[in-house]
Amino acid sequence: MPNSSSSQKMNNLRNWRALFNLTVLSASFYASMEWLFFMTKPSSLSLLSFFDSLKVLFVTAGIVALASIGFLIFLSLPALFAGNSNRQSRWRSLGYIVPALLLSITALIMLDNFTYTVFKLGIVSSRGFWRGLYALGFVFFFWWMFHSTKQAVWVRGGFISYITLAMLAISLIAILSTRLASNSSLSPLNNSSLNSSSVHYPNIIILGSDGLSASYLTAYGSPLKTTPFLNELVQTSLVAENAFPNAGSTTASTTSVLTGKEPILDKVYHYPDILAGQDSFEHLPGLLRQRGYKTVEIGTPHYVDARRLNLLEGFDIVNNQSLTQPALDALIALLGNSPSTYFIQTISARASERLLHIFFIRQMQNPLVEVNDPANRVSDEERVKEMIDQLDHADRPVFIFTHLMDTHGPEFSFQKQIFSSGSGPDTPWDESRYEDAIYSFDSHLKKIYEHLVKTGQLDHTVLIVYTDHGFQYATHERIPIIVHFPANANAGKRQNNIQIIDIPATLLDYLKLPLPAWMDGTSFLRGEPRADREIISTTAGSPNEIAPPFYQINTVQVIVCQKWFVLNVRKNTFDSGTITGHTSKCDQDRLPSDQQVHERILEYLQKHGYNISSLR
Ligand SMILES: [Zn+2]
Repeated sequence: MPNSSSSQKMNNLRNWRALFNLTVLSASFYASMEWLFFMTKPSSLSLLSFFDSLKVLFVTAGIVALASIGFLIFLSLPALFAGNSNRQSRWRSLGYIVPALLLSITALIMLDNFTYTVFKLGIVSSRGFWRGLYALGFVFFFWWMFHSTKQAVWVRGGFISYITLAMLAISLIAILSTRLASNSSLSPLNNSSLNSSSVHYPNIIILGSDGLSASYLTAYGSPLKTTPFLNELVQTSLVAENAFPNAGSTTASTTSVLTGKEPILDKVYHYPDILAGQDSFEHLPGLLRQRGYKTVEIGTPHYVDARRLNLLEGFDIVNNQSLTQPALDALIALLGNSPSTYFIQTISARASERLLHIFFIRQMQNPLVEVNDPANRVSDEERVKEMIDQLDHADRPVFIFTHLMDTHGPEFSFQKQIFSSGSGPDTPWDESRYEDAIYSFDSHLKKIYEHLVKTGQLDHTVLIVYTDHGFQYATHERIPIIVHFPANANAGKRQNNIQIIDIPATLLDYLKLPLPAWMDGTSFLRGEPRADREIISTTAGSPNEIAPPFYQINTVQVIVCQKWFVLNVRKNTFDSGTITGHTSKCDQDRLPSDQQVHERILEYLQKHGYNISSLR
């Protein structure tokens, strides 16, 4: 009966088409909901034009759709080979797993966004029973979707097929254009150049503790015994007496110590700013990794985290997670280092961390709580332990970049109460608690140093002590920068101004490696830098106020000798003053006037692409 057979074929074809349509539509729906969520808050999309954000949406929808179609084809293999049409339809129903899964994930994320935005409660704060309830709800919703999508008649029609194909076509054009725009001359650090002669290189540890002002440290002249150990270490180290940060935010400053660039060059002032294009590949850990170093970052999720910063090919391990991700590599190979690559990476991490949490596989972290609540974060003891583990289990030189948090305000944490007896934990920015936190930091440093001595690694290790900014994010207060070289080499003092971005340049100088053209720091290994050079730093405003012409910039500060000058670009106010405790003052006639520096800052902003007409 040819008629019945051909109508069966038609019916069969229509069923396949329905499944295909449903998959593409679900993928697009998922991508759109995530895109909408990120469009309505400060995110990596905030700095893109509307057209570019839209492109991210279509690329994301396209990639999710293509990956889902791939999965669908895999699940449909048995159906394609099943001769009998009854069996074929039974196997085909397996394919409905794909749209059902996409819709369930979308529902889970939408629910979570809603409860978190409205009640500040969500998957991340769920424990025990509630975690299980989420899992149960997810499974039930999936089961329901699996059965109801099979019944969906409206996706069988021809019209909906045209819509699906049109969406897929636009997405493919967006993917193609992203691929073509991804700079082919981009030179990601080439892994093949890893060389084995690296055994001669020393370990490098950059140990930062959040928000240390030099004036609170015994080693920098404080009358309090806050840093008994550091006080000894400075005797055998190279000490910058007058050092300053290049940024006021943790993210920008820790980025600058890794890149050796002033923040204005890569435009990372504060989240949601991230490294983009070539900048993602230009950094110290990448250079060291090329030379055979194992590179480790021990920061804090979200704020000091190479993944979130889009710092690529730099670290082998970030916050306890290995960065070997074949899926991400494939994505970068396809789309280059584009905003879409970053967005897809972000939303897939969001989906997977929520699923892993509700099914009790891995607990989800809350980065905001980690930073603000000392009781709820990885302790500095754990960070030090991780450092020691990395040192003990290294089969090649290691580069460890650590950011300790005891000294992070407004709430401080510490091991021993020495200076703060009586004051409770409720007073924000309590100075005596801050001093206790500094004392804790000093004992962590001591522990690391003693471990290096005990294991015979001290003379194969460069140990750098620094901080990202001063107390309460100050940028015109002196901060510590202290470098202990193997065999106590280069011990001494630098009195002229030094800045954080000089650290990578100094390290490369010590390792006798060429200084790349993109780094702007100056090595202070061989002598004093110029006394009256300009040290430039930027501070950021609230991420909720990102707007042209200055986006995230709030102030630009210039330090020359003992004097600071600061322009607030939002209020257009200018101020200047003298740095407290500066130990190497220049004569008055070497200092520039307010007008000269004001003009210099305007030039600086203009040179880096900012419209300064509002400041004239
Ligand atoms: Zn900080």
